[in-house]
Amino acid sequence: MAFSYNPYHTAQRQFDAVADLIDLEAPIREILRQPMREYHFSIPVPKDDGGVAVFRGFRVQHNDARGPAKGGIRFHPQETVDTVRALAMWMTWKCAVVDIPLGGGKGGVICDPHHLTEREQERLCRGWVRQLARDVGPELDVPAPDVMTNGGHMVWMLDEYETIHGGRYPGFITGKPVDMGGTLGRTEATGFGVGYVLREALDELAVNPGDTTAALQGFGNVAQHAAQMYQELGGTVVAVSCWHQGDKTAYTFRKRDGVDIEALKSITSVYGDIDKEKAQDMGYELLPGDDWLCQEVDVLVPAALEGQITATSAPEMSGRVKVVAEGANGPTTPEGDEVMKERGILVIPDFLANAGGVTCSYFEQVQSNMNYYWEKPEVLEKVDTKITNAYRSVSALADKRGLRMRDAAYIIAINRVAQAVKRRGWV
Ligand code: GLU
Repeated sequence: MAFSYNPYHTAQRQFDAVADLIDLEAPIREILRQPMREYHFSIPVPKDDGGVAVFRGFRVQHNDARGPAKGGIRFHPQETVDTVRALAMWMTWKCAVVDIPLGGGKGGVICDPHHLTEREQERLCRGWVRQLARDVGPELDVPAPDVMTNGGHMVWMLDEYETIHGGRYPGFITGKPVDMGGTLGRTEATGFGVGYVLREALDELAVNPGDTTAALQGFGNVAQHAAQMYQELGGTVVAVSCWHQGDKTAYTFRKRDGVDIEALKSITSVYGDIDKEKAQDMGYELLPGDDWLCQEVDVLVPAALEGQITATSAPEMSGRVKVVAEGANGPTTPEGDEVMKERGILVIPDFLANAGGVTCSYFEQVQSNMNYYWEKPEVLEKVDTKITNAYRSVSALADKRGLRMRDAAYIIAINRVAQAVKRRGWV
């Protein structure tokens, strides 16, 4: 990722273009093109060695007209408030496009959890909540895991929130472990959602998934489950690219007759590093990290970080690519998008393609609030229905107005949020 890349500028450019297209009234535009509220704070964390480290934390509530703000918390050494702003804005559109009664928010801490012990991470999580305990909550703003945060972090945050407020509020946070009020299916939901939209897209193009191949960027939770669902549809994943923490670089692991996700997982360390030697013994070719994008495949799934498909990288794509399903948030720059438009590639935009996660989070919150939990197939079926309906509405609008999926998805989402803003009498 180029450090100069600013996702907030991308989010605003995308919004402005659609606001022009639908002739959005000026005051609504003013409300929606920036966050409603944001919190910036310091989190002092006592270190195990007796010292204190101070981290910078953020929570951005972009819009809560349709319901409590919703969105994950990222731990990342290169976190910036503009990244959090962009991601909060995308959460608003994500919840609106799948039509769940939630707004958009995002949080972040500038830190590298690899350099913190478990206890230090716990203190960091509790410190984050202490700074915000009055500004977040089941009826205000509901956090969740995101880049480098997980269910364990969510439980510490929940415990701190409940300690401060003196009660049990399992609907405060989602992505909780299943035995701590989480929902079955949450782990799979984001990646499976990518699979569901791919299924719809290939069906529309009248392409049999069994005749297609794919390359993925990322080997985290989203990529692994997207790959699993795509393989269940009959597709063949031929390459995955993944950051190697130990070597501080990324590699693409290629196997032309099909990547075995379970086998790769079995040789992946807790830090997410795939063992290169073992992978080569298993018949994988080791290629440079960026090579996932120029594979001769039908489907590309960027499922790592933002700003990956750019004016420079997009032209490297093979002429065979038909569909790009954006598993990550903001993986494509407007210039990269333009290249894919010229090539006629069907791009399923991030806030639709990866909405399975927050959709499942919504169902987790519903279950937490009523303290009654559904079986996994029921949860995943509900997620599939929401994602599939959203895909079909977006695709129908795109066809009707001769638009790309991203613009059509934005129109639906922005109109829904604008409607809520108006009905509340904010403008
Ligand atoms: N972090 C995920 C996302 O970007 C999920 C958010 C949530 O579950 O609230 O969609």
